[in-house]
Amino acid sequence: MRQNIVAGNWKMNLTLQDGLALVSEITNMVADEVTGSQVQVVICPPFPFLYSVGKQLPEGSNFHLGAQNCSDKESGAYTGEVSGKMLQSVGAEYVILGHSERRQYFREDDFLLSQKLKAALAAGLKPIFCIGESLETREAEETFDFISKQLKDGLFHLSNEEFAQVVIAYEPIWAIGTGKTATSAQAQEVHAFIREQIARAYDAEAADNTTILYGGSANAQNARELFSQPDVDGGLIGGASLKSRDFTEIIKSF
Ligand code: PGA
Repeated sequence: MRQNIVAGNWKMNLTLQDGLALVSEITNMVADEVTGSQVQVVICPPFPFLYSVGKQLPEGSNFHLGAQNCSDKESGAYTGEVSGKMLQSVGAEYVILGHSERRQYFREDDFLLSQKLKAALAAGLKPIFCIGESLETREAEETFDFISKQLKDGLFHLSNEEFAQVVIAYEPIWAIGTGKTATSAQAQEVHAFIREQIARAYDAEAADNTTILYGGSANAQNARELFSQPDVDGGLIGGASLKSRDFTEIIKSF
């Protein structure tokens, strides 16, 4: 059975003090719901907060720690880079890769991302790999071709064992931070398509076992409807993960 996940992507927001206060509110508000439940909650703070935030997550619970990026390099003279092994050593289990903001603002292309994926997997991290089309692509009715290419170039070079560690996040770019969410039918349509492509590239079991998250203006109001779709296994939450009430409502939306 695939895992339901709600991941909070804080992006470049908050200070350490704000972040710790937020985590403490969240864990107080939903500790019981999350412990022993079917949903994993993954908190993805900026690098400098990882260790302290991880320490604040209740042990043995379904709260997990994730990073927002990692280097494609293993170690050495790469000033400013953070390796998968470093992330793992401070308690991170997941790492977001291929987010559209990194593709767009930091020019991360498919080749670099394939190297980052390999590096993250080698360090024992589970990548949350983001894909999604622009408004222009959607309006040109090229969404499925685009998604299929992103999957092929970005992910399907992985072995079966490597692919089994990957979580996919479908994040239509036009929905990220815009307040414009995909309808549950639009999300379901693309998620089902992604699952079909996985079945073709690997097999039906791999397709069935892959967690596919929706991201893009998901919030406390629309999460229930989105998560009720058969191929939507949770969410990658940006803005709403910075507010304890909203984020905890989303966690309770399964
Ligand atoms: P948003 O961001 O929820 O603020 O739209 C989602 C994301 O970029 O992961």
